[in-house]
Amino acid sequence: MTFKRIMGRAILLALLVYVLWAGWQVVRFKRYESPIPAPAEASAGPVPTEIEGAYHMHSRFSDGLGTVDRIARAAAGAGLDFIILTDHGKPNFAALDAQGRKEGVLVLAGSEISSNRGHLVALGFDRPDDAFSFSSDAETAAREISDRGGFSVVAHPYSKVRWSWGGNFDYSGLEIIDADSMIKGHIVRSLPYYPLLLIKPTFALLKMIVPPEQALVKWDKLLARGPANGYFSSDAHLFYRAIFPVFHLHVLLERPLDPDFAAARRRIFEALKGGRFYSAVDGAAAARGFRIRLEAGSLRVSAPFSFAHETVIIHDGKVIRRTRENELTLPLTAPGAYRAEVYLRERTPLDPRAPWIISNPVYFERENR
Ligand SMILES: [Zn+2]
Ligand SMILES: [Zn+2]
Repeated sequence: MTFKRIMGRAILLALLVYVLWAGWQVVRFKRYESPIPAPAEASAGPVPTEIEGAYHMHSRFSDGLGTVDRIARAAAGAGLDFIILTDHGKPNFAALDAQGRKEGVLVLAGSEISSNRGHLVALGFDRPDDAFSFSSDAETAAREISDRGGFSVVAHPYSKVRWSWGGNFDYSGLEIIDADSMIKGHIVRSLPYYPLLLIKPTFALLKMIVPPEQALVKWDKLLARGPANGYFSSDAHLFYRAIFPVFHLHVLLERPLDPDFAAARRRIFEALKGGRFYSAVDGAAAARGFRIRLEAGSLRVSAPFSFAHETVIIHDGKVIRRTRENELTLPLTAPGAYRAEVYLRERTPLDPRAPWIISNPVYFERENR
């Protein structure tokens, strides 16, 4: 046999092994859904309305490939209640003017501002007049956003355009996971999964999620100084239909949304600003029903899921409790910031060190008792 023929056969064999391996992985993939209904919340007053959406995406109004209509159709296909466009601009007026109800989905828009510290997402602000432009200085921009009734989120602090920390944290939150840098940023790790983006995109994307250790450590440091909310960011520029089922924000409202678009928009942004939401990798398992709250001096966490999962409680950056139970009541004595992470413990493409759910912080002070 010639060298050429041997090489040819070796490549064919490698290809065959890859196809068998990939096929096996895809066939075994299962997204978990729980038959257990949302928690009864007997002692927690009214059951909040839970809606789901995707945050951080780009349309043709900046560097995305999709029109807003196409993006809204993809969101409707993924069963989302809302999406938040974040086209680049100071602000991006075209995206702001495209807000409304499309395909049954609430299409909201903020703007991703390029600042001296990195990318800052401005949300919930009143549309300025066309002559206005947000400052390139991050602190000034944050002030201008809040002067207009809005709030800001630090985008992808440890990937793409990294955030340069310093000064006070004048923003309402930060992105903990960012899908775009995950897909593009770890090429060697992701290489075997790229072809699977075309066959089983949810599986491929789940495989590409890198545990966000650095962002979580930073978040805990920020929480010692004051509230900051954590976001899972879709950062979609294309592949909207693939990305939307994977990362969700679960927003908790005291009552269902108003039919009036402007009122619904205001309530979603208010809930985000107030941290009344949690982020989840819904592509791995449906996270609907998770709750965390303070009640009579105890931290109460509900993770009412029928598949194996582990809830981890973090107090001022330290893990203080792990449980595989669905309900946890933890009497508190030490003041400070408490938050929860939930990890999937079933067979899943999600890295076991990557959180499936992250809650926002709740602050306990002795007076809460
Ligand atoms: Zn960005
Ligand atoms: Zn972006």
